[in-house]
Amino acid sequence: MDDTTTSLCVNGTRCHGYQPDTRAASPATAGPWCTPCLDLPARDIRALTLDYLDLAQLHEASLSQALRDRTTGSHESPLLIAGQVQALQAEIVHAATTWEQEVRAAARLTQPEQAAPVAAWHTTITHPTPTGAGRPGHQVQRAATLLAAHIGTLASLPATTVFPAGCEDQPTDMTGADAIGHLTQLHQRARGMLGRTHPRPWIPGDCWHCPARDRDPEWAEGGPLWRDTPRHAEDQPTVYCAACHHTRPYTDYEQYMTALEWPGQVTA
Ligand SMILES: [Zn+2]
Ligand SMILES: [Zn+2]
Repeated sequence: MDDTTTSLCVNGTRCHGYQPDTRAASPATAGPWCTPCLDLPARDIRALTLDYLDLAQLHEASLSQALRDRTTGSHESPLLIAGQVQALQAEIVHAATTWEQEVRAAARLTQPEQAAPVAAWHTTITHPTPTGAGRPGHQVQRAATLLAAHIGTLASLPATTVFPAGCEDQPTDMTGADAIGHLTQLHQRARGMLGRTHPRPWIPGDCWHCPARDRDPEWAEGGPLWRDTPRHAEDQPTVYCAACHHTRPYTDYEQYMTALEWPGQVTA
């Protein structure tokens, strides 16, 4: 650990630990971030497992569509889509397993036994080739689970030479922070390809934690607050701030909309 780092979290006013009174972000403790700010990228990286499975289904669907089109002499785009999906899947496997290896090395984790769901499939997974043993879907699951669990280690990795997106890439120096950027971007790309990039369900109001206000020009299109749609109808929606990523239960939001003050908030 390097205790000369007194720099502040790179997220600035969007830092999870932003202090409105001192107008300062938390100290950067994990690479350029503070630890709480890694929750969101950890979630994105963990989501790569599902992304991969969804892409596999999309790939299959595009292929069978392409086969059907061939018999009817229709356009070629399903084949094109299938190719793009496959390339993205391959990049997810490559990037996730590449950084899994770096994190295992840095954290001195040798055997992947702690990744319980996949341990039974293969016991010799830490092979030098990133796309080595194991089925790709399980490799992604094992890698994504490990990376999310060790996100602090990943964030702090110094620059190292890797093939960022695939073995035929130019070797490039990347830090763990670069890796987090790449992995979260892969998640966004997968979501985009799967057609999940619908606009956020913005709701009116100002953030209770950070300086984001809905009259700010930055949020002219909506936001900073939005709410999710729970998977089960009986579950409470959660309110998110798109700027600082803090969350609140929807009941707090309802109180805020009535009282124009967030529960527990001290008015200045
Ligand atoms: Zn932060
Ligand atoms: Zn906020």
